[in-house]
Amino acid sequence: MTDDLGKSPRRVAAWHVCLAAIPLVIGAYFALVRAGVWPAGQVALYVSANLAFAVAALVTARRLPAMRTILIFLAGSAAAGATGDVLFYVDALIYGEPPYPGVPDLFYLLAYPMMAVGLVMIVRRRTPGWDSASVIDAAIVAIGVGYLVFLFLVVPLVDFEDKITSLVSVAYPIGDVMLIVVGARLMLGAGPRTTALRFIGAYLGLVLVADAIYGFQTQLGTYVPGNFLDALWMAAGFCMAAGVLHPSAPKLVAVSNTATPDATPGRLAVLAFAAVTAPTSMVIQHFRGEEEHLVAAAAVCNLLFLLVMVRMALLVQAQRHAAVTDGLTGLRSRRFFEQALGNQGDRSARLGVPVSVLLLDIDHFKSVNDTYGHNGGDRVLVEVTHRLRELVRPGDVVARYGGEEFAVLLPDTTTAEAGEVAERIRRGISAAPIAVGDSRLHNVTISCGIAGMPAAGTTEELVLAADRALYAAKHAGRNRIACAGDQLTDDPAAAEPVAA
Ligand code: GH3
Ligand code: MG
Ligand code: MG
Repeated sequence: MTDDLGKSPRRVAAWHVCLAAIPLVIGAYFALVRAGVWPAGQVALYVSANLAFAVAALVTARRLPAMRTILIFLAGSAAAGATGDVLFYVDALIYGEPPYPGVPDLFYLLAYPMMAVGLVMIVRRRTPGWDSASVIDAAIVAIGVGYLVFLFLVVPLVDFEDKITSLVSVAYPIGDVMLIVVGARLMLGAGPRTTALRFIGAYLGLVLVADAIYGFQTQLGTYVPGNFLDALWMAAGFCMAAGVLHPSAPKLVAVSNTATPDATPGRLAVLAFAAVTAPTSMVIQHFRGEEEHLVAAAAVCNLLFLLVMVRMALLVQAQRHAAVTDGLTGLRSRRFFEQALGNQGDRSARLGVPVSVLLLDIDHFKSVNDTYGHNGGDRVLVEVTHRLRELVRPGDVVARYGGEEFAVLLPDTTTAEAGEVAERIRRGISAAPIAVGDSRLHNVTISCGIAGMPAAGTTEELVLAADRALYAAKHAGRNRIACAGDQLTDDPAAAEPVAA
């Protein structure tokens, strides 16, 4: 595992100790269990896993105020688990009679919602707003796996003879499904994939597998306290302790600035597995001559189909959006601009209404890149976009036409009116310097070419005329506006040197 903060501490870090505890403490625990000696020591070793998790969460909560509430929920979950462990294993390992259902179950069941709340809070912090693709993916996984849990753990455990026992027995799988939902949402959602996150993933994987096997074993009557499942539950506790102590823990709540991960092969495999669980289980049950849960399976299949359709619709929508949107600035793409111009051109020809186009080009932009680097250049593009948006009317189309060229489509606007808009934009963009780096400012100016219909015959001629006007504005000294077939609009400010 790498240190996500780039530091490689020489001394042994606390999370290393938690990892080392996995083989050492588990080894010692099983040695005592096999030898059948010192039951109190067995209980202490077993409980140390959840206790390590609780203490680690509290220690980190003190250190990271930004994550305090989350960590307190996680610590609460671990403490509830540890309390359940003490009560259960004192009975099981010392007196040899695990109570079921009993007081330990109360604590074990309390641990689920606390863990779920903590994880949901992490998810909300990583992806504020509504990350619908991840929500749907998580729902698909939850429904698919939830169906298996229903089939193998809930159905056989519902024994209406003893209400309390069946209620408690069903509560566990329901708690696990809850963790699957939240866990899938956390692991499949956007946000930095740090080592701490992987430790949480490992915790969830271990707990869910152990709980599932435990469910089977209690059902078959083969469960014995102190069997291999304890190794999984203990390893899970230490993993979580290592995760919250890891230097990358603060990044668990770092806001994601990337979109939801795309349909990667791993994600598709998980979704495909989840989607085929219900129909496959039905076929298997059919051939084995077992009772098929037709209604449940059909409901699951229908729901999954609908979710897949919604996911597809969202993907198509996202593709459409991507095709007409510039990635860096969020402005309309050149393609969108040309389509909109075509429509306005037709309208102008039909109704005789005017339409104007502005082509803007940032002056001396190469020197911005050369001086402040490509990132500095990008920041200028984003800020120019921001100012541009403020300076146009709602119905106008602003597009990123090329690298540092912008186009504005002004429907129902004469070239004279367009000249006023252009002048407003020219002044607005150069009004204040733009931050290009940490406390570095740069004065940016633009040159602008204007052309309009009906003066230009076709939309192609319109763009060519605006481009020629832009060239003329550049040629005349930059930081000025030129209108096709017109004299240059000279600006006195343009004569002043532009600070770089
Ligand atoms: P002029 O005043 O004549 O317009 O001079 P200029 O330096 O702006 O010249 P030009 O328009 O030819 O320069 C375009 C530069 O814009 C070249 C290219 O490296 C840069 N560029 C294009 N796209 C991007 C981008 O997305 N980000 C950054 N940072 N730079 C870009
Ligand atoms: Mg250019
Ligand atoms: Mg330029």
